[in-house]
Amino acid sequence: MKMKAYQIVEWGQPAEFVDVDKPTPGPNEVLVRMRGAGLCRTDLDLMDAVPGVGPYATVLPHGFTLGHENAGTVEAIGKGVTDLVEGANVIVHHIHSCGNCVFCLRAVEQHCSTYARGAMSLTRGLGLDGGLAPFMLVPRRELLPIGLLDPVEVAPLTDAGVTAYHAVKTVMDRLRPGTTATVIGVGGLGSYGVQLLKLLTEAKIVALDTNAERLAIARALGADHGVCSNDSASDAVMDLTHGYGSDVVLDFVGSNATLAIAAKISRPQGRIVIVGIEGGSLNVGWGSLATSCEVAISMGSTRADLMEICALAERGRLKIDKELFAFEDVEQAYDRLRKGQLVGRAVVTFP
Ligand SMILES: [Zn+2]
Ligand SMILES: [Zn+2]
Repeated sequence: MKMKAYQIVEWGQPAEFVDVDKPTPGPNEVLVRMRGAGLCRTDLDLMDAVPGVGPYATVLPHGFTLGHENAGTVEAIGKGVTDLVEGANVIVHHIHSCGNCVFCLRAVEQHCSTYARGAMSLTRGLGLDGGLAPFMLVPRRELLPIGLLDPVEVAPLTDAGVTAYHAVKTVMDRLRPGTTATVIGVGGLGSYGVQLLKLLTEAKIVALDTNAERLAIARALGADHGVCSNDSASDAVMDLTHGYGSDVVLDFVGSNATLAIAAKISRPQGRIVIVGIEGGSLNVGWGSLATSCEVAISMGSTRADLMEICALAERGRLKIDKELFAFEDVEQAYDRLRKGQLVGRAVVTFP
């Protein structure tokens, strides 16, 4: 049987609908009937990737179905899968992992040794077939049952939500009462960063963005202050922290400009976490950062992170803003995303 899939066929060409075979699950695989697929700015970067230029077109093979925020129901199970039943609601941890290397054994499978050092991980929707098709094939270990949670509702948690959750988890133990956390870039991922900081820590939260509408949303989600990300942004944060700087900076943009702000507002013994992948760099050395300030790149998430953020959703603790689009209207949804016209995540639904 054939089905339509929305694919990057060649680097440098627009994505397109392609007729592909409906997959059949092999040993330890599960065929998922898609219900919700969240769209991400990374998809636009993939569509815009120039052949031979990183970080995607140099590492990932072309010819794959887009969509790395995936949720649905079990349609069919392969040999060896004994703990899932047909019809069960599931979500996909989009990062592929081997299960056997030292990083997988330490349960930090987003650093799986099967990737080239420093390369983007292979994920479902980035190099491997993702969820913008009626059916998707997933290894059992990359699936998480979600009980009665609605797959359409939680689809945005599988990347936007869980990537932010992972970044917040790396700083949670530092954020005692009286501390400050600054979130740079409060769009799709950063807005989850704000709500998770509010939910899980006692820190004062400063949101920084160039867009006033996004700052207003961040305030509604729990940010104590919204600061326009312009030339005086670092002075504003220093004022808000009485000249001490921010204990934690989560940069969901990662450009030269935002990392320069992060450096200026860093605090002794603070931590700067780079999540955004805009490709900027940060000067590290005496005088460029506060003393003993740490810098980390937060890469993806673990399956345990996904389980934990779903538990928060199950308890009704998360606000998951989204706009729904039918699968055949996916190009319209990407167009709205590109123009910055969406309020919340675009989630594609399937008949
Ligand atoms: Zn994404
Ligand atoms: Zn591995």
